Amino acid sequence: MRRIWTVELRPQTGGPLLACPHPRCAAATPLSAPSARSAALTHLARHARADVLPSHLRTCQCRDQGCHWHPRHRGCAGPVPLALTLGRGGRAWRLADACAACAAATSHTAVVPDTQLGSPRSPTPPAPTHAGHRLGAEERLRVRETLTYLAAALPQFTSPAARLLAVQCTLRADTRGRARLRAGLLRGMRLHGRREVWEELAQGAWLRCPDLRSARVEVQLLDGTVLDQAPGRRARCRAAHWALNPTPSHLPSASPPALHLVTLILAAHTTDRTTGSLDMDVLTRLSGHSRQQSAELLDRLIAVRALAAWHQNRDTDEVLWELPAHTKATPGTWCPLPPIR
Ligand SMILES: [Zn+2]
Ligand SMILES: [Zn+2]
Ligand SMILES: [Zn+2]
Repeated sequence: MRRIWTVELRPQTGGPLLACPHPRCAAATPLSAPSARSAALTHLARHARADVLPSHLRTCQCRDQGCHWHPRHRGCAGPVPLALTLGRGGRAWRLADACAACAAATSHTAVVPDTQLGSPRSPTPPAPTHAGHRLGAEERLRVRETLTYLAAALPQFTSPAARLLAVQCTLRADTRGRARLRAGLLRGMRLHGRREVWEELAQGAWLRCPDLRSARVEVQLLDGTVLDQAPGRRARCRAAHWALNPTPSHLPSASPPALHLVTLILAAHTTDRTTGSLDMDVLTRLSGHSRQQSAELLDRLIAVRALAAWHQNRDTDEVLWELPAHTKATPGTWCPLPPIR
């Protein structure tokens, strides 16, 4: 089953029109969302929801088309989420089922989590009934999705501190793209009062620079993808909390942001309790570091014992790692839930 949908922006006096070649969409329609990207995603998501297919039946549409959406890589792998790609002239968007490996290798592409499809019918998962919540797979998945989205949404040379802040803002944003970050949280991240980090994100037009004098920083995100996020905020807040201290990794909180960012990326991709792997290309894309910097940071993680070992397979370009053995004792860490407003 073909699951590829495209739309195109047609410039027009009186505002651009959104044109869709789908047989059910005859005429081009005026834009009706705060950004073109948002309008495109909203339209394409409607097609994806109408042509619903259980996730286990989805296949990588990139491979079906001969994998020419991206440079060569070592083959399809991972789950098959929907991926949104901005086309060459900046006027066309494509939404398609693409495996994690193909989506990561395709430029101008962001994985669109199901929670961001804006479906009014998707039920909100029930809130946990106890005060503690077993952290794990779900939080990892949401952080992975967020890191992939940010790799496409932020400028390539965005600093590690700004990326860590953007992870928190994305996961804590409400359905109107507003996020509130307590001063204590920012202090814990050692980012309290760091105006230059906010300005960096504001320069990329990803958010509006907030007033930093109040005890709780209120920030307005400007990217359409974030504005489209459907309910599911409680689960996203849990993931944001997990991202502050991504078990089973452990890194002293005074470590530099670059080390925190790499630790977060590795923890989100650690699959087998203490081991994981990632293409070097993906690692550099998610972190904004060069290959050389990434290798140096992995060495530093070993020096501070946040990592037991790492290795790069020269043939496949895959980075493999192992976390220290003592973390094996805490696979099901129980952690109090953050307050959610
Ligand atoms: Zn359409
Ligand atoms: Zn492919
Ligand atoms: Zn694929």
